[in-house]
Amino acid sequence: MTEQHQQPRRSDLRAKSIVAIASGKGGVGKTTVAVNLAVALADKGYEVGLMDADIYGPNCHIMLGVDNMPPARNKKMSPADSHGVKIMSMGFLVKPGQPLVWRGPMLHSAIRQLVTDVDWGDLDYLIIDLPPGTGDAQLSLAQTVSLTGGLIITMPQAVSVADARRGLEMFRQLNVPTLGVIENMSYLPMPDGSRLDVFGTGGGRSLALESGVRFMGEIPIDPAVRAGSDSGSPIMVSSPESDSATAIRSIAQGLDEMVSIKPSQQDSVIPIEVIE
Ligand code: ADP
Repeated sequence: MTEQHQQPRRSDLRAKSIVAIASGKGGVGKTTVAVNLAVALADKGYEVGLMDADIYGPNCHIMLGVDNMPPARNKKMSPADSHGVKIMSMGFLVKPGQPLVWRGPMLHSAIRQLVTDVDWGDLDYLIIDLPPGTGDAQLSLAQTVSLTGGLIITMPQAVSVADARRGLEMFRQLNVPTLGVIENMSYLPMPDGSRLDVFGTGGGRSLALESGVRFMGEIPIDPAVRAGSDSGSPIMVSSPESDSATAIRSIAQGLDEMVSIKPSQQDSVIPIEVIE
């Protein structure tokens, strides 16, 4: 690597807050939370981008009901727009069903492309859906953008919490502040008003407590969340008054309080640096 390559160069991406959403393993609802959190923040009046960096299962665009990106402009890829969120996905860059085998340098350059080669415009928030686990993609991203922080998604049960704990440790090693823990599929609301603890109870809260980070909230199991994700209409849009949407809105509010930005404070936009 030459000296010139070691110099940071400026990206067009200007985002006041860049928040990565991570989980120890797949299937805990990381993508669902990332998508709905992005919509909830857009509903608050923010300019929001959603970068789907989940190389193993780029599903954000499906959950937002878009299957392609608009034509490129000025040699930059244009993000698609759905439910007020600008979305750019690894899923746009590969053919549907094509297996993705990423090696180190290829992966790094694909992630960098999502940052530098996309016309994101001025954003208040860039939400990044990371792949599950603690691998090369997380490292590449942390080396490419200056992350405001990360949110960890877990389910309540002990095995999920053990995986999530590794996610917290990964953020610590990458010097990315963990903003908080979100517990998903916390309970199933019963018709009589009681809660059925399908996956146990309290794991997310105790993980937050032991790690000294904020417990952002719990999201109930809700068949409408799954249906909305499959049909491209996230629960924040399909059923905004549901308990699950209310929980996500309150998590968005908590995140917003933590990073404390206001819509249209354009003077505080800090161009991020991309390390080559
Ligand atoms: P991950 O990104 O962690 O792999 P997904 O977001 O793809 O997980 O979610 C896995 C499945 O669980 C999806 O079918 C999604 O619709 C469903 N799901 C996620 N959260 C909930 C919830 N709170 N209630 C019901 N289904 C959910």
